[in-house]
This record gives sequence, C-alpha cells and structure tokens, in this order.
Amino acid sequence: MDKARKLFIAGNWKMNKTVAEALDLVKSLKRDLADVLDVDIAVCPPFTALHPVGQLLDGTVVKLGGQDMYWDKFGAFTGEVNAAMLKDVLCTYVILGHSERRQFFGETNETVNKKTKAALAARLKPIVCVGEMLAERESNRTEAVVTDQVLNSLAGLKPEELLEVTVAYEPVWAIGTGKTATAQQAQEVHALIRRLLAQLSDAKTAARIRIQYGGSVKASNARELMGQPDVDGALVGGASLQARDFVEMIQNVRN
Ligand code: PEP
Repeated sequence: MDKARKLFIAGNWKMNKTVAEALDLVKSLKRDLADVLDVDIAVCPPFTALHPVGQLLDGTVVKLGGQDMYWDKFGAFTGEVNAAMLKDVLCTYVILGHSERRQFFGETNETVNKKTKAALAARLKPIVCVGEMLAERESNRTEAVVTDQVLNSLAGLKPEELLEVTVAYEPVWAIGTGKTATAQQAQEVHALIRRLLAQLSDAKTAARIRIQYGGSVKASNARELMGQPDVDGALVGGASLQARDFVEMIQNVRN
C-alpha cells in the first residue's frame, strides 16, 4: 500500500488474558511477524501481563503499550500506575482516553490532556482516543464532539510533542459491535482530525502525525480502511485477541 505515513497497528486486549494466555499469544506474534518491518506493531495487554510480555518481546518488532496510566509521578493513588512504571516494564506506548475509560471511569478531555503530557515527559508515546457516540452521530454532532476532544485532549502540546502522539479515531458505535464505519465515514473524520492537528501545530507537522481508525477492524476490512489517504493504521480490540486474526490483518495491509 502506498502510504504517506508508515502504518501503525496496535492491539488493545482490554481486560482479557492471564499471564499464561498472554505469553502464548505473543509467542505466536513474535514468530509470525518477525519479518514485518513495513508496519509498526504494538500490543497492549492488561497491567498484570505487561512485565512478562515485555520480557518476551524485548528487541522484536512487536512493541508494548499500556492501556492507561495516571499523570502524577508517585504517591497515594491506590490502583493507579504512572508513566515511569510503564517504561520500567518496557512499554513504548500508552493508550489514553479510550472510550471505555471515558464512558465507565470518568475520563475527560482534561484528564487525558494531563496524562498525555505526563506520558510525553516520560518518553512514552501516547495513543490518544477520540470518537463520537451513536446519538451524537445521529444528531449530526460528530464534527463538534471530535473537534472538542482533539483540541482539548491535545491542548498545549508543542509540535515536536505532537509528532510523538498517535490519534485513534474510534466511533463508539463501532467498538466491539461488529459495525464498522465505512471507509468514507472514517476518511471524513480523519481529514477533520488532521485539520485540527494543523490548527494545534502547522500543516507540515500535522501531515506527519499518524491517525489510526478503531471500531470492529478485522482482517477482511482492514485493507479498504487503510487505503484511505488519512487512515494510517488501526487500534484493534476483538481481532487482536487471537494470533491468527491479528497476523492475517497485518499481512493483508502490507504491499
Ligand atoms: C478498541 O477497543 O479500541 C476497539 C476498536 O475494539 P474492537 O476492535 O473490538 O471494536
């Protein structure tokens, strides 16, 4: 695929996989994806599996990411982990502002912004998620919602910091539902996000930032979605839980 930016596919395992199951899965990924140098790849296991998975993946093409983090450096924040802890277990990336965190755990654009800045300060690369709910799309508020999320979640970042960020556009109605946005629907919002990134920095910087699509991406629809000019990869839930599905998807988007 002739792309302006290198594709980036990340698997979000959510609250799935024991340590043994996680190791099983990454052993297959490590073997089957060893020669994939033309697509950036990451997996984001639950916190409990990060350390052993990181050890197994160290030095391979499959990078590691956390699913969330807290912005403070240390202290009395029961249940939280910070950016340095994720770095310590060999994470390269961290997912921030996933719609499930926004919906069920009170995440806001302001907290995503604090987390994004803390991740960057620790040299972790944030994958910042945005996306509208079904009711918002049906009332023609997609543009307003995504604009608010992008501008406020990424407020105050310098251009060189924005270059370390991946934005994931994940329409909430498409996550885990089997309903994928059409390639045109995705491209429309991705183009909007790139204009917003230019507003936050400049056109040249915005042209280098990767924007992933997320929402029921699988091996059979990945190529069409990533064929869109502003779709630079995918954040994948369900189809990242089985090695065969994830590997097939990555192979399908290669040239
Ligand atoms: C996600 O969790 O980010 C996601 C896109 O899930 P799924 O691929 O299962 O829709």
